[in-house]
Amino acid sequence: MSDCLVIGGGVIGMMTARSLSLSGAKVTLLDQQQCANESSWAGGGIISPLYPWKYDDLTNELSIASQAVYEQLCAQIFEDTGLDPQYLKSGLLMMDEFDTSEAKTWMQKYKLTYQAHPQGALFTNIAQVRNPRLLKALKADIINKGVNIIEHTKVESLLIKGDCAIGVKTNQQDYLSNSIVVCSGAWSSQWLSLIEEVFPMKGQMIVLKADSSIVEHIVLDQGRYIIPRKDGRILVGSTMQNVGFDRSTDEQTRQSLYEFASQRFELLAKAEVEHHWSGFRPASKLGQVMLGRYAQFDNVYLNTGHFRNGLNMAPESAKRITQLITHEA
Ligand SMILES: Cc1cc2nc3c(=O)[nH]c(=O)nc-3n(C[C@H](O)[C@H](O)[C@H](O)COP(=O)(O)OP(=O)(O)OC[C@H]3O[C@@H](n4cnc5c(N)ncnc54)[C@H](O)[C@@H]3O)c2cc1C
Repeated sequence: MSDCLVIGGGVIGMMTARSLSLSGAKVTLLDQQQCANESSWAGGGIISPLYPWKYDDLTNELSIASQAVYEQLCAQIFEDTGLDPQYLKSGLLMMDEFDTSEAKTWMQKYKLTYQAHPQGALFTNIAQVRNPRLLKALKADIINKGVNIIEHTKVESLLIKGDCAIGVKTNQQDYLSNSIVVCSGAWSSQWLSLIEEVFPMKGQMIVLKADSSIVEHIVLDQGRYIIPRKDGRILVGSTMQNVGFDRSTDEQTRQSLYEFASQRFELLAKAEVEHHWSGFRPASKLGQVMLGRYAQFDNVYLNTGHFRNGLNMAPESAKRITQLITHEA
């Protein structure tokens, strides 16, 4: 029996498992397939919300606190595992919406500013991680720290005795635990009844193979973005499609993402599309993170519904849920 069961092995589940494990808890993490394969793998890895003034205070607080620790966290994980998450402060060039009154109020409130740039506003402190690498490193790190990862095990429901949750029922066997943390992303409402339903919001992305000198900063315009990786690969995203768990990608989206990038950087018109994929953001109607105690049982906790910002909010979300479980806060 473990102290804590973490349900889901995306960035939220693995950061939560890491943080709980560092606090001294004996942690078991369950995933219905392999860890690190879903939204957290599919995402762009920008360590900031896009147009942060469009989000609520909690999202901004979690994001800003996470931004403050990300570089050090990645360095620590790299040192401990030998796997580099490629944290890179590439800056973000915003081509639109940076001079609205909403944006100005937000910048005053959070004391953040930008550098003027011929094409818009350059937010020099915004960074990115290579999220598939971060996940690989995180998985190795939590295994080293003693987290018991059990994959290909689908949680079907809470296991209830009297009026207490004593563990979870899976398609393999029952697992008992003192506390349970729900980090199941877009699937959270599939096995647990939540007041605010979590549902998948599909996003498609492409990656281009190009020269690393073509794009210097992350570029954001009209809700779409271009992310230059260190090795010259360039990610272009993304769509917002409320179509259930349909993983398919389509030619029209591929073409429109390609055009978006090549219209802004002529040299990308020659670049080859290496890969095109989709992922399921954990969305909810209110668009708010669900972070805290589950209403029905005191020892069940929610860390889900991170929508477009799970990668950038993960460290602080994991810290806060750990503090709640260990009664530090
Ligand atoms: C195209 C795209 C671009 C994005 N770009 C960014 C970005 O640049 N920056 C950013 O911060 N965020 C971005 N996001 C959002 C971010 O990826 C998500 O918010 C984040 O990955 C959510 O993490 P998670 O761990 O909750 O979910 P996931 O990574 O989806 O992990 C959930 C895990 O739970 C497991 N699971 C589910 N149900 C069960 C069950 N019943 N039993 C056992 N296991 C279960 C799944 O198998 C999965 O491994 C993007 C998302 C997409 C799709």
